[in-house]
Amino acid sequence: MDIEQFRKAGYAAIDHICDYYANLDKRPVSSSVKPGYLAPLLPTAAPEEGEDFAAIAADYGRVIEQGLTHWQHPSFFAYFPTAASFEGILGDLYATAAPNPGFNWSCSPACTELEGVVMDWAAQLLGLDTAFHNAAGVGGGALQTTASESALIATVAARERFLALPTQSPSKLEELVLYVTTQTHSLGLKAGRVLGLQVRALEVRAEDKYALRGAALRQALEEDAAAGRRPFMLIATVGTTSSGAVDNLPEIQAVLKDHPEVWLHVDAAWAGIALCCPETRDALFLDAINAAADSFCTNFHKWGLVNFDASTLWVRDRKSLTDALDITPPFLRTAHGDAGTVVDYRNWHLALGRRFRSLKLWFVLRGFGAAGFRAHIRQGIALNATFGALLAASDILTLVTPPALALTVFRLAPPDRDLDLAALNTLNASFFARLAVRPDLAITQTVLNGVFCVRFAIGAARTTEAHVRAAFDVITEEARTALALWESAV
Ligand SMILES: *Cc1c(COP(=O)(O)O)cnc(C)c1O
Repeated sequence: MDIEQFRKAGYAAIDHICDYYANLDKRPVSSSVKPGYLAPLLPTAAPEEGEDFAAIAADYGRVIEQGLTHWQHPSFFAYFPTAASFEGILGDLYATAAPNPGFNWSCSPACTELEGVVMDWAAQLLGLDTAFHNAAGVGGGALQTTASESALIATVAARERFLALPTQSPSKLEELVLYVTTQTHSLGLKAGRVLGLQVRALEVRAEDKYALRGAALRQALEEDAAAGRRPFMLIATVGTTSSGAVDNLPEIQAVLKDHPEVWLHVDAAWAGIALCCPETRDALFLDAINAAADSFCTNFHKWGLVNFDASTLWVRDRKSLTDALDITPPFLRTAHGDAGTVVDYRNWHLALGRRFRSLKLWFVLRGFGAAGFRAHIRQGIALNATFGALLAASDILTLVTPPALALTVFRLAPPDRDLDLAALNTLNASFFARLAVRPDLAITQTVLNGVFCVRFAIGAARTTEAHVRAAFDVITEEARTALALWESAV
């Protein structure tokens, strides 16, 4: 493809993308293809001779799009939002047009320096203390692929810091324990598995709305100390995936005052973005994050309008990352790096190379402005309040835990019937099975301390009140059908 052919194919690609977005709400939300659908539609080997791009682009529309689940669809309420934006798409386009591995400053000075600047913009937007800002030169932030990688990086840093503490050594690796809760995302268990470390999942209770409390943490620390184990890190969550639970950070902060050796990582992958709105900050414990977190992560690629992937990780002490991750063979040495005048982001993440992700974050923050960004978040919260009000007035649906920001967890609870938990779970599983095959919305399930529930997650950029009301009507209709079928069977 030469430049003029690229120009033509590029315009056509943008046209295709525009038509896709313009007609998104006319498509079923989820793909209905069966496993293995694709290989029979494609040749068994790459072509020997190059093909015309128009044919390749046509095949994208013909064979790939039917296998896409449309996460940007306004009726996508499953998992968590991936609120993409055109600014984000353009950021990716420019970034991929000047590919470079970005591992150190010299690779492309703009890549490193823009990341430093926009991470500080993002930190300010969320209200993070200046201790986390790059500008201060002590803490700082860097873009990671995912919250899982952010947690893994933080765990490596926490482990190295712990092992270097004079009071803790000599520690055997097998004595180290990573704390999570039973509601922590699987990233905690995965970090433990990857690093060969023990993980202890602390129990949380329904009456605490599935949040970790200080007393449970203190008790676990005492038990482990008595047993010769060495807790070195706690992954606390602000906005759990299942139900939006917020671990009680002020209580955790008070307990960890007596255990400064324990690294506090705050995983706010989904909900942390809402900190851009000052009215959420008390409920999300921003003050405790600012006072006590060693590291904090949120994903702009979920609710935050930046196309996947863009996970932001901040640390209070950047040296904890670079001490843990800096391995500099001779061929990577540079005069600037040796002089310590530049940041080499390869020491802030797992890989050597890294994508130019800051470009799309920069485009989004400028294109929306802080006010536009907050308006998007407030819209999601307001829509969820509408959904919560509809639920509260329902005669057969009930909340399982209070709505959290843009997430509501509910279940079918038939009135005037005294069903035990097993019967309710069976009924709800058949209710959910009906919702799962609806083409006009996408929605997911969870289990909270043994209770089968349905999750409704708002945050796609194009969702309006009409979509939420229509979804509620579908949910109510399926609930009535599931109940009627269940009653005729028992
Ligand atoms: C979505 C989510 C994650 C995982 O995010 P990735 O970026 O895909 O690793 C982790 N924690 C919480 C609370 C989440 O909601």
